[in-house]
Formats: sequence, C-alpha cells, structure tokens
Amino acid sequence: MNGFNTKDADREQLVAALRASEFHVGAIYSVSLDPIIVIDNDGTIREFNSAAERTFVCRRDKAIGTPAAQLFHHSVRERFQKNVDVYQETGGEGSLVGRVVEMRCLRKNGERFIVEMALQPIPFEDVGRLVIFLRDVTERKRAELALKDSQRLYASLVENLPLCVMRKDREGRFTFANRAFCELVKRPLEKLIGKTDFDLYPRDLAEKYRSDDAQVCETNRSIESTESNLAPDGTEHHVYVVKTPIHDAFDKTIGIQVLFMDISDRVRAEQAVRHTAAELEQSNIELQQFAYIASHDLRAPLRGISGFAQFLQQEYQGKLDSTADEYLDQIVSGAQRMQQLITDLLAYSRVESRSRPFAPVDLAEVFDDAVDLLRAETEDARGAVTRGELPTVLGDPAQLSQLLQNLISNGLKYHDDAPPLVHVTAERSDSGWTIAVRDNGIGIDAKHHERIFEIFLRLHTNEKYPGTGIGLAVCRRIVLRHGGRLWVESQVGHGSTFYFTLPDRSSSQS
Ligand code: ADP
Repeated sequence: MNGFNTKDADREQLVAALRASEFHVGAIYSVSLDPIIVIDNDGTIREFNSAAERTFVCRRDKAIGTPAAQLFHHSVRERFQKNVDVYQETGGEGSLVGRVVEMRCLRKNGERFIVEMALQPIPFEDVGRLVIFLRDVTERKRAELALKDSQRLYASLVENLPLCVMRKDREGRFTFANRAFCELVKRPLEKLIGKTDFDLYPRDLAEKYRSDDAQVCETNRSIESTESNLAPDGTEHHVYVVKTPIHDAFDKTIGIQVLFMDISDRVRAEQAVRHTAAELEQSNIELQQFAYIASHDLRAPLRGISGFAQFLQQEYQGKLDSTADEYLDQIVSGAQRMQQLITDLLAYSRVESRSRPFAPVDLAEVFDDAVDLLRAETEDARGAVTRGELPTVLGDPAQLSQLLQNLISNGLKYHDDAPPLVHVTAERSDSGWTIAVRDNGIGIDAKHHERIFEIFLRLHTNEKYPGTGIGLAVCRRIVLRHGGRLWVESQVGHGSTFYFTLPDRSSSQS
C-alpha cells in the first residue's frame, strides 16, 4: 500500500516537473525576440514562433508543414538542405550543427535579410528534430559596412590630405601618423610609433610641444595656433597647428590629435603684400608731397609772370603791332590757364593732406553756399540750380562743399543751347545716403563713364568748354575718403546724373 503510494507520488512529481518544464520552454519559445523554428528530419517546419512570424512576415499556420529551405535565399537554400540531410545521415558529423553561421533569408514579401543561425538537435520520439535559432543581423551588418566605409574614407582622407596628422598618447608617444607627417620627418610609420617629440625635435621645441599637449589634456580643449620655427638650414618655417583631445568610450582623455600645415608660402606672400603696400603708401605720400610742393612753389613765380603779362597788356595793347598784341594775349591766357591748373592740382593733393576730422554737415547749407558761389556762372548761362530735401551727414565740411560745388558747376558748364538746369536730391538707403546731381546738359557717352574720373581727362577742347580735367578726380577722392562711391549715369543729349554715396559710419576717415 505504502509502496504503491510512493510510486504514485513519484509519478505525480515527475508529471508536475515535466509540465513545469514544458511551460518554461513554451514561455521562452513564445516570448523570444528571435525566431525559433522546429523542423522535422526531412526539413519540414513543425513549429514557428511569433518572432518568426514577424521576421518572415508569414503566419504560423501557413509556415507549418512547408519546407524550411524556402525561408532561405536561393543562394544558400541548397547548403541548408544538404546540412539537414547530412545531419540526419551522420548524426551531426560535418553539419552546421553546433556552430553559429551567417545565412541569407527571405521574407514572404521577397525582402532579403541576413541572419546568424544556430541549429540544435532535439530528440523527439524516435525521429530527431532540429531547432533553428535565428537572429536578424541585417541592421548590424549595415552599420558595420557603413562603419567600414567611413573608416576607409577617413583613412584615405587622412592619408591624402596635404596636412600633417598624428596622434600621441598621454605620455607623448606617437600612436599614429599620416603619410605627410612621415614624409616631413623622413621616417616610416613603424619607426615613429612609440617615439616622442624628443626623438624628432631639438629639446626646447619638444618641451614646448609637450607643454602644449599637456594643456590640451588638462583643459580638455582644443588649441589653435600659428608657430614660427627655424629649420636647421636657418630658413624660417610657419605652421598652423590644431591640437584636439582624444577620448575613449568613457570620455576619458587618452591622448591628443595634432593637425598642422606648413603655411610658410602664405605667410611669405602676406609679408610681401604688406611690404609692397607700405612701399606704395610711402611713394603715394611722397607723390602727394611732390604735387603739393610743386604746385605751391610754382604759384608764386607764376603769379608774377601772369601779373606782369597783364600789366604789359594793359599798358601796351594797341601800341605795338598786331602780332605783339596776339603774343601778349597768348601769354596772359596761358598764364591764367596754368594758374587754374595749379590751383586744381593743389586742391587734388589737399584731399588727403589737408583733410579735417569728420563732423555733422548740413548738406542743405552746403548746397546754398555752393549756389551763392556759382551765382555768376548760373546767371551768365541763364540757368537754375534747385534741390530737394537734403540731409545732415557726417563728413569733412570743406570737402563735401567742394564736392557739391564741382558737380553743380559741371552741370552748369556742360550744356548746349538750352539753359542749364541742375537739381540735387538725396535718397536714404539701409547703409547711408545717395546724393544725385542731375543736369539737362550734353550728356556723356557710356564709353567715357569711367574715364572721366581720371585726372586730366577731358572730352572737349578748352575753347569749347574750359577746364583742367581735375574736378571729377578730386570729387572721387573726396567720396572715397568718406567711404562712398561716385559714378555717373548719362546718355549723349539727355543730360547726366552724378551719384555719390555717403555711408552712415564711414570707416575711411583719415
Ligand atoms: P573739367 O570740367 O575741368 O574738364 P572734370 O574732371 O570736372 O574736369 O570733368 C572731366 C570731363 O568729364 C569733362 O571734361 C567733361 O567732358 C565730362 N563731364 C563732367 N561733368 C559733366 C557733365 N555734367 N555733363 C557732361 N560732361 C561732363
């Protein structure tokens, strides 16, 4: 009785343990994130878990009873089936069983994907069955490929850049160097790895590098600098350097990356440009002084010649013969023209040398003064000079006055039969003012629009329109000094408009 009870109890325990085990297996099988497929010894699918359903986009009831080989891409299908067969024949010898292999699979919708596969035999009644464990590694493979690709790109960039790139550990030992750096220090990579700056450079330079590197590691910040070093042959080298800390996966600084390029050519070119600019500046100053002194010193003797020629003319006109009268006329007008030239040249040279600090200038007042000064010319030509609203701007009062006077005077001068009308207006822009001086005169052919601002350039004879060809050159210099621009818009026979800009905050004040 007792023995019977014990046997029953054992059986019950066994059944309970079996149930528990079945329950556990079932739970693992159904909640597994990876596909688990059970196949018969001929390769027919017997179980297909929900992860397999999701992965293969195929319902369990459609999969069961079909050959498992169809789950694989045709390129590996035969291999899979052969292995199942070999396993059945040899009991595992030479099959895929017991190894993790990479296979290509097919979803029901035709999409390909990559898996890692493990086969596990399970005894089932008298026939063996196999469990296929699969893991979709497509994304991981893609990421690996992308990583490899970017590593290749990085390597080829670093190798082919015209920059020196190298890495050092915290002890200053080289851990990497690109081709440019190896060429520069004339050592192959394998002879550089493990070496330090002290093996390559003079002690004081190596010490400087070492302290810069330490600063990068300690502050965990990049540094950027331009260094000048003397090469052993005595030539000066300039390099642009960027040092950046390198971190490990836990953000610990494990070394530095150094990137540098030789900018000696650029620095030398910049020095040459600066030198030339300084020379140019000097020669400009000398030229201006020359123009100023020459015109200034010429003025006094010329005034004498002109004065005496005029006396001669007043005293002796008509008392000598007609040829002498004509000669006297020529001398007087020649001397006057020369005086005018010298006065204008002086004005030109004074744009820079006699400039005054900028101050608020009421252009309306400047206009009124100019109109007063030009009253005789205006009346002679039976013309009129008018204006719109004019602003107060920042500038050199005397120069702005001269600028407006020159432009208005030209507007009064260059006209045909119709009486000259000159109108001055101002327009506001985001950055300052644009002033326009418009006339109804003879106009200027487009091909001369730039040339007329050159000094001494005139489009007419002195007889037709007297002048020296300096006025517009003076105007352009004044506008340039105020940081603006001067130009003309005109058509022959349709008048001209001269525009100049005056920026709000002039940076060209000298
Ligand atoms: P100048 O008036 O003494 O000749 P400028 O430098 O003032 O010298 O002018 C250069 C040339 O530009 C003039 O000779 C003339 O041909 C042309 N010019 C200047 N202003 C005008 C204008 N308002 N209309 C037509 N032509 C002009």
